[in-house]
Amino acid sequence: MTEQRREREGVREHAGGARSAAEVADAWEALVATARRTVSDGLVVGTSGNVSVRVGDTVLVTPSGVPYDRLTPDDVTGVDLEGRQVLGTLVPTSELPMHLAVHRTTDARAVVHTHAVHATAVSTLVTELPPIHYMTGALGGPVQVAPYATYGTEELARNMLRALAGRTGCLLRNHGTVTYGTTLDQAYDRTAQLEWMCRLWLTASSMPGLTPSLLTPEQLARAGERLRGYGQPGR
Ligand code: 13P
Ligand code: ZN
Repeated sequence: MTEQRREREGVREHAGGARSAAEVADAWEALVATARRTVSDGLVVGTSGNVSVRVGDTVLVTPSGVPYDRLTPDDVTGVDLEGRQVLGTLVPTSELPMHLAVHRTTDARAVVHTHAVHATAVSTLVTELPPIHYMTGALGGPVQVAPYATYGTEELARNMLRALAGRTGCLLRNHGTVTYGTTLDQAYDRTAQLEWMCRLWLTASSMPGLTPSLLTPEQLARAGERLRGYGQPGR
């Protein structure tokens, strides 16, 4: 966003704390980079999928139907937690109900929705992704499949919230994935891990006459516990 435009539009001060124009501009840049990554990593095609990130009580979202490589700093699009547009003029994503439902009811700061192919394939076959790998623990347990509802509806948002209970990701039947996190990178990484696990399960379960072994609840719990301390301390 240009300096003049920032000043002209102003950036609302919210109950959650004053937010600077620079903070919004940085969050928008990171959101656009994440949306572009969903395309370059093959998790969506064209303008499918959407991304949101929270700055104070404003939720920045990808606009509906705009190719991510065309988004500029001037296209910043933001709504409040009730869905009223507070930034920009482009129409927000049609999946606003899903994004807002997650932001209103969890500790999410970022949400990623994709149509990743293996995850979407799995959503048509089972009601829960069988726990084939310990990374199931990174999403809070076996990933649930939300019943189908038309895209962009409150019904889909309700179905998604039920499937997300106790989890940071779910599948949407015949549609795709939703994951959330405290950062865009974390939300994105959870989508990538979910898609990878779906690909793993489809690969293992496609061997004629053979059935993949699955992890027990105890094995998952132990892995989940250990994953909480995974990586570098304090980073
Ligand atoms: P938008 O372009 O409106 O974000 O819609 C894409 C999508 O994935 C709908 O489910
Ligand atoms: Zn979608």
